[in-house]
Amino acid sequence: MRLAVPVVDGATSHGSTPPLKRQGPKDLKDHHSPGNLGVIRLLNKKQDKVTTAQEIIDDYLQRSGVKFEADSMKLPEDAVAGYAKKLDVIRIRPIERFESLDHYYTTLFHELAHSTGHPMRLDRPGIGVPISIEYVHEELIAELASAFLDDEAGIHSTSTIHSNYMKGYIEAVDAGPEVIAWAAGHAAIAADMVLGRKSEAARKLLAA
Ligand SMILES: [Zn+2]
Repeated sequence: MRLAVPVVDGATSHGSTPPLKRQGPKDLKDHHSPGNLGVIRLLNKKQDKVTTAQEIIDDYLQRSGVKFEADSMKLPEDAVAGYAKKLDVIRIRPIERFESLDHYYTTLFHELAHSTGHPMRLDRPGIGVPISIEYVHEELIAELASAFLDDEAGIHSTSTIHSNYMKGYIEAVDAGPEVIAWAAGHAAIAADMVLGRKSEAARKLLAA
């Protein structure tokens, strides 16, 4: 089944809309109304999340050697972010193109997860391939890994953008619980690699 996500020149890229229709993502502006202590606490929490998310990203990029192009103009017109396997580079649009900081960082975590599948790293088959079952499985892995990384960074978004994106892929391949469990296992390994943790599962996978 064809999905509304382009694959260009060995790259996975992500449109500004997920396969399914968006449903009212929360806007960051919600948190900028003038304030009381509750709002200040909320802003401080938001700042902590940004710091943690950015630290995770900076640490992984430095350790892995994955290249990063912020404010990239090299993405397909309808894409907000992508990972190109051939050049081992993550590209993302300016932060203003995203509905919220949560969405920006969750999207970046998704692309970081893709980069762990590069042949030099975990060597997953669904990176930079035409739309296929392997491609969809890779999307499930990247989405689940980004959810794990969100949790690490303290991001617990109520936005439905990413859940709808994943739902689209689950429905596209009619993925049952066993596929989700399989993808979650690979996603946990990918998230561990981003976080610099050497999981037992990863060791076994790399040794096989
Ligand atoms: Zn993806």
